[in-house]
Amino acid sequence: MSPVAVILDGYVDEPACLGVPPYVSPYIRTVAGALLAHGYSVEYLTIDQLRLAPMRTVELNRADLLVMIAGVTVPGKYLGGTPATLTEIQQVGHMVRGPKKLIGGPIGFGYAAGGGQKAIRQVISGFDALLTGEPAIALDNYLGGNEPAGPLDYARTDPWSIAGSPIIAQHPDYPFVMCELETARGCAHGATGGCSFCTEPFYGQPRYRGIAAIAAEVTALYASGARHFRVGRQPDILAYGAGAGEYPAPRPDLLEDLFSSIRTAAPGLKTLHIDNTNPATIARHEDAAREALRAIIRHHTPGDVAAFGMETADPAVIAVNNLKAQPDEVFRAIEIVNEEGGMRWDNVPKLLPGLNFVCGLAGETVRTYELNEQFLLRVRDAGLSVRRVNIRQVMPFEGTPVYTNNTLGQNEQRFKAFKEFVRNTIDLPMLQRVYPIGTVLRDVRVEVSGALSFGRQLGSYPILVGLPLDLPRNTVTDAVVVDWGMRSITALPAPVRINSLPASAMRWLPGIGKKKVAAVIAKWPFRDLEAYRKVAGSSAIDPVISFDIS
Ligand code: SF4
Repeated sequence: MSPVAVILDGYVDEPACLGVPPYVSPYIRTVAGALLAHGYSVEYLTIDQLRLAPMRTVELNRADLLVMIAGVTVPGKYLGGTPATLTEIQQVGHMVRGPKKLIGGPIGFGYAAGGGQKAIRQVISGFDALLTGEPAIALDNYLGGNEPAGPLDYARTDPWSIAGSPIIAQHPDYPFVMCELETARGCAHGATGGCSFCTEPFYGQPRYRGIAAIAAEVTALYASGARHFRVGRQPDILAYGAGAGEYPAPRPDLLEDLFSSIRTAAPGLKTLHIDNTNPATIARHEDAAREALRAIIRHHTPGDVAAFGMETADPAVIAVNNLKAQPDEVFRAIEIVNEEGGMRWDNVPKLLPGLNFVCGLAGETVRTYELNEQFLLRVRDAGLSVRRVNIRQVMPFEGTPVYTNNTLGQNEQRFKAFKEFVRNTIDLPMLQRVYPIGTVLRDVRVEVSGALSFGRQLGSYPILVGLPLDLPRNTVTDAVVVDWGMRSITALPAPVRINSLPASAMRWLPGIGKKKVAAVIAKWPFRDLEAYRKVAGSSAIDPVISFDIS
C-alpha cells in the first residue's frame, strides 16, 4: 500500500496569488504532484473542514505525512473560507502526532492577525520542518534526504502541476473551484527595490512560465473537472513574457498565444479572468497595452477585472515608497481599460479596472486622504467605471522598507473617514453604473444560506449578491439586480416567478416596496405583464418576469 500524505490547506493570499476558497492556489497542485512523484497517495483537507469537524485530526494522525500550506501577506475579507490563524497552525502542529509534519507557503515570510499590524517571522512550533522557498521544491528536496528548501524552478514544478491537478476534485467546493494559474513570479519593479510594502520582490526578477506548460496544466485541470480559471499568479499580466527593464512593454503576441492556448486546452470553460495589472505598464506603453488588452478580451469571459495597485494618489507618498505609478498614469490606465473593456457582454462590462489603496505607508498625512478622495471623485465625475475600490492598511513584513518606516496608528480617524467616504460617495454610484436595475447576472452560486442568502459568480472580484430567499448552498441561478447596497447588490433569481414569489422577497421588486406587497398578493396570480403592470407599473426587470402558475 502506498504511504498516505495529507495536504492541509490553510489558504494563502499574497499580492499575486490567491488560494482562499473557491480559489485553489498553484501551491496545492504542485505539492500534490511532488507527493505523487514520491509514491504517496494524496488526500486533501481544508482548515475550514477541520474547524467544522475537529475529529478529523484522527485521519491526520493516521497519515504518514502532513503538508500544511498557509500564509497571508495581504489582509482581506473572505466569504468562501477563513485562512488559518497562527494559533490554529500551532494547534495542528501539536495535536497531530502521527505523521511527519511540514509547513510551507507565505507563512514563511511572517504572520500578522490582520492589516495594520506588523507581520512577525515565527518559529512555527510542532512542525518537523518549514519548507523554505518554493513549497513543492522544498518538499521534493526534503523527501530526497536534502534540506527542506529550494527556489522556484518551473522545469521541476511544471510536471507536478499537471500530475497534481486531480487534487481539485477533493476540494469541498468542487466543482465550483477557481484554479489560480501561474504565469510568472517576481516583479520587474523590484529592480529598484519594488514598492515599499510588497513581498513579491522577495521572489526576485520576473521568471515567466512557458505557454505550452501552462496549457498542459489547463488541459489536465480541465480533464479533472475544472471549468473556472483565473490567470492571477503574476504581478502584472500585461508584462507576460516582456523584456528587461522596470516597466517593460507588453507583448500582445504572447498574450494572444497564452489566452488562445488556454481556450483550446479548456474548450468548455465557464470563467477565464485575470487579476493584477500594472497601470504604469498601460500608461507608458499605450499602444502595446491596448493590443494586449484586446488579446485578453478576445478570449476571456465577461465580468473580468484588471486590479490596479494604485496604493495612493499622493505624489509625496509615491516618492517615499517607490510606488510604481503616478496618479495621472493610473487615471489614463483607467480610461484605457474602460475604452477597451467597458462594452457589455452577457449583460456585464467585459473588463473593468479595480483599484487598490494601501494606507499607513511612510510619508502619509491627512493631505494624502484628501488627494485620494479627489482622485476618486475625478474618476467618478469623468463617467468612468471602476469595478471595485479596495482599501486596506499595510501589513508590514520584515525585509520590506515599510517594516521600519510607516505611519500606522497616526491617521486612524482619517483612514476610517476615507473608507466611509468611498462607501458612500464612490462605491454606490459605481455599482449603480456597473449593475443597473434589471441586469441579469449569470450563474450566481449560493455560498451562504439563510433568510437572506449570499452568493457570487465565480470570477475575479465577483460582486456579492444578496438574494432575499432561503436558497440551499451551491444553488446556481441567474439573478436580476433589484437594488444596491454599499458593496453588494440585492437580486432575485431570474426569471422572477412572480406568481410563486414569497411575500418577503416581493418587497424588493421595483415599483412594489413594502407598501404594495399586499396589493400584489390580492391580485395573484397574474396572467401576464399587462396585469402585473397595473399594480407595479413598468420597470427594468419586466423582461425577466415569468407568469408561470406552477
Ligand atoms: S509593482 Fe509593486 S506592488 Fe506590484 S508586484 Fe511589483 S513591487 Fe509589488
